[in-house]
Amino acid sequence: MIKKVLIANRGEIALRVLRACREMGIQTVAVHSEADADAMHVRLADESVCIGPPSPAVSYLNIPSIIAAAEVTNADAIHPGYGFLSENAKFVDIVTAHGIKFIGPSADHIRMMGDKITAKDTMKKLGVPCVPGSDGEVKTIEDAKKIAGGMGYPVIIKASSGGGGRGMKVAQTEADISEAFSSARAEAKLAFGDDAVYIEKYLTTPRHIEIQILADGQGNVVHLGERDCSLQRRHQKALEETPSPALTDKLRSDIGDKCAAAIRDMGYEGVGTIEFLYENEEFYFIEMNTRLQVEHPVTEMITGLDLVREQIRVANGEKLTLTQDDIKFSGHSIECRITAEDPDTFAACPGPILEYHAPGGLGVRVDSALYSGYSVPPYYDSLIAKLIVHGSNREECMARLNRSLEEFVVGGIKTTLPLHQRLLANEDFQKGDYNIHWLEKFIDGKA
Ligand code: ADP
Repeated sequence: MIKKVLIANRGEIALRVLRACREMGIQTVAVHSEADADAMHVRLADESVCIGPPSPAVSYLNIPSIIAAAEVTNADAIHPGYGFLSENAKFVDIVTAHGIKFIGPSADHIRMMGDKITAKDTMKKLGVPCVPGSDGEVKTIEDAKKIAGGMGYPVIIKASSGGGGRGMKVAQTEADISEAFSSARAEAKLAFGDDAVYIEKYLTTPRHIEIQILADGQGNVVHLGERDCSLQRRHQKALEETPSPALTDKLRSDIGDKCAAAIRDMGYEGVGTIEFLYENEEFYFIEMNTRLQVEHPVTEMITGLDLVREQIRVANGEKLTLTQDDIKFSGHSIECRITAEDPDTFAACPGPILEYHAPGGLGVRVDSALYSGYSVPPYYDSLIAKLIVHGSNREECMARLNRSLEEFVVGGIKTTLPLHQRLLANEDFQKGDYNIHWLEKFIDGKA
């Protein structure tokens, strides 16, 4: 039985994990960089250990320091949150070798899905629909031209080890291939130390729809519906909702069942997200994330399940007590990602929070590590709060979100709160009429 969890993360997600542990009677160990000594997750944890200087490379990504912190505090499990070491198979190997339970899937599954070429190949074999594209890695510009020509333009060249929207280049015609191929490879080499790339048909007006799954590694798997994450800027999600305005119950259960079957065949354990592009009533697999996602709360709001609690239960070796028939979707939920950025230029705005007031009331949840007097450090991701709202339908949810955004006060720094307010007032958004390119057009004043 897991009695003490070390949370290898910071910010709102460290707090999120800590809250689930506390409700389960599990002790918590926070780790933090020198810049995060006053962070809320450190204040609320039972114990805390400083693991290094501010830079993530020498703190939150510092495997020896984190393992030492777990050993010193006698933690018997590590929860990685998202980002940082959450999809690092080597970290999982080391954690496991020290007799500590990693709360997440096996290193093998992380490796398999971390390499997008292998992931696509695996999913295809397991009956999950994929974006048409090259058969594995494309090694030369000549091959790239041949494959793209056969498929038809536009195409997208993607890094096999890619993540965070990096190492992806679109080619509209054959004339773009050589530049797109070379720059995708160079960017991939620099960011991931691996320059393997592959080619996909570039879908021009898709939505990004992902399926949440939960598996116990003992043959029991459920899907928890979808999240529509089409509102993105530079391939980064800004607002997510469930259910997707584009899906019917039948489309949801068909794709959900296909995903659950594939995950069962793989023998996967934990939570995971299977990401798709969706266009003209067809789903196309793009990648799988083998961890908890930033946007998981919208799923929690409509299913009533605590996904971190489920992760810990599965890590404890417990079987799922739920079957697919037990999963009921109720109402609608939207999450706004609030970042410490200028809402017009997106320049980072770290600094001291002089005033702070979070909205509340029925159906309103704020996942944030902010407090009045806190100072947002400049070293990390700019996400400072997630505002998650639930309503009995999309209309009620939007009205509740609107008034929650009005109530939300974060003084002293610039945030993207005004952007979300403008978004809510837009007719296309209100109708649910958007795709993955829509938000950038909206920001440029063209939507
Ligand atoms: P990452 O791991 O870097 O997030 P993904 O493969 O998940 O990369 O893709 C991120 C985003 O890039 C998608 O949500 C979508 O907006 C865009 N994208 C990726 N592949 C395609 C494609 N074949 N056609 C159109 N857009 C794509």
